Amino acid sequence: MDAKRQNFSSAIERIKKMLGGGKIRLMEVCGTHTVAISRAGLRQLLKPDVELLSGPGCPVCVTPASDIAKVLWLAEQGITIATFGDMMKVPVDGRSLFHLKARGSDVRIVYSPIEAVDIAESLADGEVVFVGVGFETTAPAIAGAIVDAKDRKLKNFSVFASMKTIPTPLDIICRSPQIGVDGFILPGHVSAIIGSKPYRFIAEKYDKPGVITGFEPEDIVDGVFRLAKMISNGTAGIEVSYSRVVRPDGNVAAKRLMEEIFELCDSEWRGLGILQNSGLKIREEYSDFDADYRFKIPEFPDAKDNPACQCDKVILGLLKPNQCPLFGTECIPTNPQGPCMISSEGACAAYYKYGE
Ligand code: SF4
Repeated sequence: MDAKRQNFSSAIERIKKMLGGGKIRLMEVCGTHTVAISRAGLRQLLKPDVELLSGPGCPVCVTPASDIAKVLWLAEQGITIATFGDMMKVPVDGRSLFHLKARGSDVRIVYSPIEAVDIAESLADGEVVFVGVGFETTAPAIAGAIVDAKDRKLKNFSVFASMKTIPTPLDIICRSPQIGVDGFILPGHVSAIIGSKPYRFIAEKYDKPGVITGFEPEDIVDGVFRLAKMISNGTAGIEVSYSRVVRPDGNVAAKRLMEEIFELCDSEWRGLGILQNSGLKIREEYSDFDADYRFKIPEFPDAKDNPACQCDKVILGLLKPNQCPLFGTECIPTNPQGPCMISSEGACAAYYKYGE
């Protein structure tokens, strides 16, 4: 065993010893952490002393069917849709962007919002809508794309804004006895933007600890160690084990850019319903770049996910992916039945890929 691996194993042993046979339930909020945990086999190594639950930190997974139905509607109007690849296969009422593309809609996969601006500039006529799904990690780049489109004087670029903010659902999870979380492994990337302060309510209001960690197995184990220590000592605080990237105030320039373009709004989450002030909408001053405003998109309150899919429970830690009856049989990455198997950050995809 190399020295790094040995340190890692002895850290896990120290966690178990510290808990002295007691059991704790921790939630990793971020989808990237879910994948890193599955890849390193941490869930297996830590159990039964530490149970790791996956949370609502996969942006595609928490986007509700009603918003995806709106994007499908836009594609059917002859508008060019630019989207991250994970959104392509998410089914709503048995249809997806992938299906519409196969039938002739202009749907293009992009790797950054700026690529969507480039597409708009390259089209002589025709509208381009970027599907703005994501958390505070992605929002500054989307805000930057809007500023760039304005600077280029583009009149055919807009964003379908379905962005969400991470701290709000944690308030709901803290209050849920059904989920029963003792502490949180908090997201590294989102926290690099918003900082550590927005999570203070978790400790102050609910007396639960949280640790912001990086994505290497050693980072995550350090986070679990700090959480186990606080829980064992009966203390609660928000610690940063990723201080090489995360500051208490976050990235001030990125936050300023986001605030210039977006404002908070109520937003619907899969599994959680409408949460007050949990989303980001485009400010009125930039409404020319707001797809909702430009195209008067209708509401789709009756849009339905696959009724057999249980992603609404998976993203709240109420169900482990492998407890879904479809997992690994009818639902596999090549034939996914829900967003948690489709998204590269989805818990079902991570469990399946790494054999949990
Ligand atoms: S295994 Fe498939 S059907 Fe089941 S919750 Fe996950 S994505 Fe949905």
